[in-house]
This record gives sequence, structure tokens and C-alpha cells, in this order.
Amino acid sequence: MFLCPVCGELVEALTNAHCMTRHQLAKREVVARYGPPRYIAPRLTREIQRWIQEAQVIRRADFDVPQALGYHLHRR
Ligand SMILES: [Zn+2]
Repeated sequence: MFLCPVCGELVEALTNAHCMTRHQLAKREVVARYGPPRYIAPRLTREIQRWIQEAQVIRRADFDVPQALGYHLHRR
């Protein structure tokens, strides 16, 4: 598994399709700008997937703070 250097998404491989659809960049442009995708060991991948699943249970307070920060940064 690899970690996309742009969005941090776990992908089987950093493909041209992912780069084009998500970032409107060819894979080689992504690598040139952001560096090569990081290889994630399978054991670590399972831990990350578990973390993502747990992170999907978002409490209201967890949501409001980044949301407020987002609005604040957007207005400036
Ligand atoms: Zn990406």
C-alpha cells in the first residue's frame, strides 16, 4: 500500500487515474511537486484502517472546532 503524497489517501498504488481524478495532475507531476508516495507496510496499513474507522465516529465537539477554524481561515 502507498500513501498519496497530496491527499494522504491509502492507495494500492499511486496511479495516474487517482492523480488525474483527485488532483488534476499527471502522476509524474504529483511526484515532481510532492515527492514519491510513501510505502506503508501491510501491518501498519491495518492499524491505519482501524484508526480511520474509529475516526469516522466523530463527536460534535470534534467537528465544530475544525469547522470554525476552516471558516476563520476562509474569511481572511
Ligand atoms: Zn491523492
